[in-house]
Amino acid sequence: MGVSDTKISEPTLVGKKNIYICPSCGHGFVTVDKDDGTTPFMTDCQRPGCGKAAHSLFYRCPQDMLADVQPALEWYRPTVLELGDKPPHVLDHIAKGGLLHRPPTKSYVARRMRT
Ligand SMILES: [Zn+2]
Repeated sequence: MGVSDTKISEPTLVGKKNIYICPSCGHGFVTVDKDDGTTPFMTDCQRPGCGKAAHSLFYRCPQDMLADVQPALEWYRPTVLELGDKPPHVLDHIAKGGLLHRPPTKSYVARRMRT
C-alpha cells in the first residue's frame, strides 16, 4: 500500500489474530493475517495426525488475550515468484482474493516479556 492508494478500503484485518478450533480432536490454534485478503472458514487441523478440518472463530476472540501468543500460522498473499509452483486450484483461490497459510515468518508477539 502506497500513498497513491486513494480508494477507501475496508477496515483491514492485517495483524488481527484468529482462532481455529477442530471439532474432531478439540485442538485449537491461533492464526494471524499478514496481508489483506480472505481467509477460509475451515483449514487443516494443525494437530499432527488429525487430518480433519478446523473451524474459524471469525476473529471473535479477544485480541488483548492473544497479544502475547505467537500464532501457529500466518495468512499471506504470495508474491509472483512464490506463485510459480502452485497448482491451478490454488492460483484460482488467490485470484479471488484468498490468502495462503504458512508458519509465521516473524514474531507476532506484541509485548516482549523482557525484564
Ligand atoms: Zn484436529
